[in-house]
Amino acid sequence: MSILHVFMILSVVSTRPERVDVDSTAPPGLPSHQVRSLRVTVLSTMLADFHGVGEWGFAALVEVDGRRILFDTGARPETVLANARELGIDLSGVTDLVLSHHHWDHTGGLIPLREALSKQNPAALSRAHVGEGIFLSRPSPEDGQETNQMIARRAAYEATGGKFLVYDRPVEILPGVWLTGPVPRRHAERLWSRSVRLKTPQGLVEDSLPEDVSLIIDTPEGLVLITGCGHAGIVNTIEYARSAVRPAPAYAVIGGLHLFRASDESLEWTATKLKGFGLAHLLGAHCTGIEAVFRIRETAGLTRKTAVIGAIGSSFSLEGGIDPLELAR
Ligand SMILES: [Zn+2]
Ligand SMILES: [Zn+2]
Repeated sequence: MSILHVFMILSVVSTRPERVDVDSTAPPGLPSHQVRSLRVTVLSTMLADFHGVGEWGFAALVEVDGRRILFDTGARPETVLANARELGIDLSGVTDLVLSHHHWDHTGGLIPLREALSKQNPAALSRAHVGEGIFLSRPSPEDGQETNQMIARRAAYEATGGKFLVYDRPVEILPGVWLTGPVPRRHAERLWSRSVRLKTPQGLVEDSLPEDVSLIIDTPEGLVLITGCGHAGIVNTIEYARSAVRPAPAYAVIGGLHLFRASDESLEWTATKLKGFGLAHLLGAHCTGIEAVFRIRETAGLTRKTAVIGAIGSSFSLEGGIDPLELAR
C-alpha cells in the first residue's frame, strides 16, 4: 500500500478511528483476508416469524470471526431492540455499525439503540461507518424543509459520544470485511424514488442515493454481500465488489434489493446477471419484493432452500446456508 493511498483513505474519515482496523485496509486488487466463520441474522424486515415484529425497514447482525457489526438499525425506534431481546441476542457488546444510506427505514433505530445500549456499555454502537453523501441536504419540493433526518441525527449521535467514519472508496473495516463506499452506477438500474431532490453545488438533482454502501465479506466460497435498500443496484454493487475485493463468485446476497416495483424485463435482466455471478444463496429481505425473490430463484437456478424471503430471526451462515425459520421455508 502506498503512503498516498493510506493518506487518501484516512483523509475521508471524519474522525480517526481509535482501533487499527481501518488502517489495515489493503489496496483494491490485492488478495484479501478470507473470513472463517460468518453468520448474518435479520433483525428488521417486513416478514415476522414466531419471534419479533415486522416493519418496512432493515437491520441485520453480522457475526464474523468472533467480531460483530450491526448493519442498519430498522425504521421504528424500538424494533431492533425489541426483536433482538425476543431472539435472545444481546447487542450491548457491539461497538461498530454500518448505515447503508440516509433513509428513515434504515436509520430510525440509531439514536434509541445507542442510548439504550450505552447504559450497559459506553462503547456500544459508538462507531458508525457510512458512505460519503449520507449527510447531504434533500430539501422538500413543497416547502424546502430538510427531509434528510441524518443531518439532525448526526448531531444527536455525536452528542452521545458516537463517531461517524465516512468513506468515499472501498475500505476493509475488519479483516476480510469490506465496505463498498459509494458504488459507481455502471448500469442504469435506477432503483430509487424519482421525486426526491438532492442539493449539490450545481443545484438540485434527482437523488440517486450516492452514499448507498453495501458490506462485502470475503469467504473461501466467494463474496457475501449485505445490502440495505439496494439503491445502487445489486448488479452495480456486485461488479464493484468483484473489482474492489476480488473477482470471486457472489456466494450469497442478503438484504434489500429494491426490486418490488421492477418490471418483468428488469427482473429477468437482474436474475440473469446474478446467475452469471454464480449466486448460490439469496436471503431477499425488506424491499426486494416477494415476486422478485421467486423470479430470481427460477432464473438463477436456485431452490427453495437457497432463495428465501427473509424474516425476523432468519439467518445465513457459512456452515449451514440459509435458515428460513418456519413461514418462509
Ligand atoms: Zn432507501
Ligand atoms: Zn429501505
